[in-house]
Amino acid sequence: MDPKFIISAREAQSMAESSALTLPELLPTLVEPARNLARPPISEYRVAAVGLGQSGRIFIGVNLEFPGLPLHHSVHAEQFLLTNLSQNAEPLLLSLAVSAAPCGHCRQFLQELRSPSNLQVLVTSHPSPEFTSLSHFLPHSFGPYDLFTTRSPFLLEPHHNGLTLPDKHDSELKVAALEAANLSHAPYSESPSGVAIVDRDGHVYKGSYVESAAFNPSLGPLQAALVAFVAGGGGGYDWIVGAVLVEKEGAKVKQEDTAKLLLHSISPNCHFNTFLCSSHPLP
Ligand SMILES: [Zn+2]
Repeated sequence: MDPKFIISAREAQSMAESSALTLPELLPTLVEPARNLARPPISEYRVAAVGLGQSGRIFIGVNLEFPGLPLHHSVHAEQFLLTNLSQNAEPLLLSLAVSAAPCGHCRQFLQELRSPSNLQVLVTSHPSPEFTSLSHFLPHSFGPYDLFTTRSPFLLEPHHNGLTLPDKHDSELKVAALEAANLSHAPYSESPSGVAIVDRDGHVYKGSYVESAAFNPSLGPLQAALVAFVAGGGGGYDWIVGAVLVEKEGAKVKQEDTAKLLLHSISPNCHFNTFLCSSHPLP
C-alpha cells in the first residue's frame, strides 16, 4: 500500500500530537494535499475524502474518471475511501473530512455501513466546517435495513461468500480474483464478484464488487481493483496487462461485459478472462 493513501495509527497519532490536534481534527488538514492524488480527466474537479478508522489508521479516498466511457463508470472519493478501508480490513469508519459536500450518490453509498448515523462528516469547503452526523446529510434515508432479508453482514464487516472454482490448478491472478469475490458485498442480488489485475511489473491488485441498497451507487469489481491499483502506487492504467474476473454461474447480475468495456478503454492491450464459480453454503 502506497503510504500516500493510508497512514498508520502510530504515525497519525504523532502527526496529531505535533500539531496539538485530536485525530478527528487532523483529518481536514490532510484533505487539500490529498486532492492532488485524484484522477479526474473529464471534470478536472478534484475531490479528496480523508477518514479515520476504528484502528486509529487514517485512509485517503479520491475521485477517478475514465474518458471515453459513460460517467457512471466513475469512482467517487467517498467510494474510494470505503473501498480503501475494506481492502485493508478496517472494520469501522468513525469520521471523515471531504473537500466538497458529499453528492447524493455518496450519501446513499455511505448508508451501507452499520449505524450510518454514527458517522461524523466534515466538509472543508463549508464556511464554518464542523463534524455533523451523516443523517444530517441524508435524513429519512433508504438503506440496507429496508432490503436485508437475512442477517447479512454490512459493508466493512467480515464477508465470506463460500465461492469455489472447479479447477484446482489455479493461476495467482485467478486465486486473487476468487478471494476478492469471496469478500464481495452483494446482499441484494446475491451475485458476488471479484477482479484481480496485474501490471507490467507483476504487481497484483484485487477488488470486490460492492452493492448499494439503491442499486445505482454500487461499485463494480474492476473499479474496486482500480482503487487498489491507484492506492497501491500504480502508474498509468495502460500498465495493466492482465485481468481476471470471477463471478457466479447463473448470477442475476453479471459484470463481464461492463468490466471488459472499461478495461478495453483504459488499457486496450490487456488480456481479460472470466471464470465462473459456484457457491456452497457455509456451515
Ligand atoms: Zn459522490
